[in-house]
Amino acid sequence: MQIQNLLPTTQQVYNLPDAHGHFGPYGGVFVAETLMAALEQLRTGYERYRTDPEFVAEFAAELKHFVGRPSPIYHAKRWSEKLGGAQIYLKREDLNHTGAHKVNNTVGQALLARRFGKPRVIAETGAGQHGVATATVAARYGMECVVYMGSEDIQRQSSNVYRMKLLGAKVVPVESGSKTLKDALNEAMRDWVTNVDSTFYIIGTVAGPHPYPMMVRDFNSIVGKECRTQMPEMIGRQPDAILACVGGGSNAMGIFYPYIEDTAVRLIGVEAGGLGVASGKHAAPLSAGTPGVLHGNRTYLMQDANGQIMETHSISAGLDYPGVGPEHSYLKDSGRAEYVAVTDDAALQAFHDLCHYEGIIPALESSHALAHAVKIAPAMSKDKALLVNLSGRGDKDMNTVARLSGIEL
Ligand SMILES: *Cc1c(COP(=O)(O)O)cnc(C)c1O
Repeated sequence: MQIQNLLPTTQQVYNLPDAHGHFGPYGGVFVAETLMAALEQLRTGYERYRTDPEFVAEFAAELKHFVGRPSPIYHAKRWSEKLGGAQIYLKREDLNHTGAHKVNNTVGQALLARRFGKPRVIAETGAGQHGVATATVAARYGMECVVYMGSEDIQRQSSNVYRMKLLGAKVVPVESGSKTLKDALNEAMRDWVTNVDSTFYIIGTVAGPHPYPMMVRDFNSIVGKECRTQMPEMIGRQPDAILACVGGGSNAMGIFYPYIEDTAVRLIGVEAGGLGVASGKHAAPLSAGTPGVLHGNRTYLMQDANGQIMETHSISAGLDYPGVGPEHSYLKDSGRAEYVAVTDDAALQAFHDLCHYEGIIPALESSHALAHAVKIAPAMSKDKALLVNLSGRGDKDMNTVARLSGIEL
């Protein structure tokens, strides 16, 4: 497949964000003055490289030889037959190096860091998956790597902490606040402000201040671009609907973006419904939140009447975030994409089903998208096609799933 630049060539009309990073009323730049210079450098630098043939060619070569792209599409035939309706196809991001879509983005940002002459990268991580993807590319390109992680999360995610260390990263425990992701994020911001001359801050999803939501989307849009060629090769046409789980929203934006103008294809984002949206114990800001400002951008959030961020709950650490990328907020309000929430229990059932019927152990995050396919496929005719983004593999979730079944590993 030929890739001239990072933007889908099919796009004629949809051209967001605007020059200030706005997706309608969402997105933008809400940060302290001390960060403005660093963001401006990133914005102009990225603007230059996103259409630079040499940069784009190197990115494509890295995705091919290091990540292992293109990832295949797989027809989940037995499972589709069992459900008795639409055919389910899986975009196999679980087969990428490091086991998920996140590396598409960290490769892109690491290549930018090199172009900018920055020998040091930093990241924040909650569950550890973005930390591992960042440590991986830092090793690959010989860069110093510091990952900020709440001390609470370090305890809960010890094998990912060990992975990062094996890859040569320094993992800094954050002891402030709730000792989790949002505290790690504040600490990473502080580091960036202090060391901006030497340091590139690699954000792991389509959130944060402009240009991050756009840039992370562009790097992950390779997923949807491949699907646009692969689906016609497989079934002679594009799918009827595309489903993807939404935490911050990067795997979903990656597969949705090249389809935004193709309005015959339904786009369905699946949030973490936890114990049920009505229970309040969930991580579903698009399904049950309101707009506000968090982490540098305006978007749907889980907040109380006083604008305090609410505690989130999900079986899946990667979806456990109270905000969402601003482009999803725009796609929701404009009606181009639909957003639903599925419960922990439904995701867990879909996890076991995919293991059982297809011999594929999915990530718990991806299992949310699978669970919504289970809900809608049976009512559709057998000649319809659902394409689910299988964002990652489930090896990392063995302990969680075992514990829920009363087994200690
Ligand atoms: C991190 C992660 C997610 C959630 O992040 P998005 O930015 O919403 O894609 C989903 N799936 C997997 C496998 C992940 O590791």
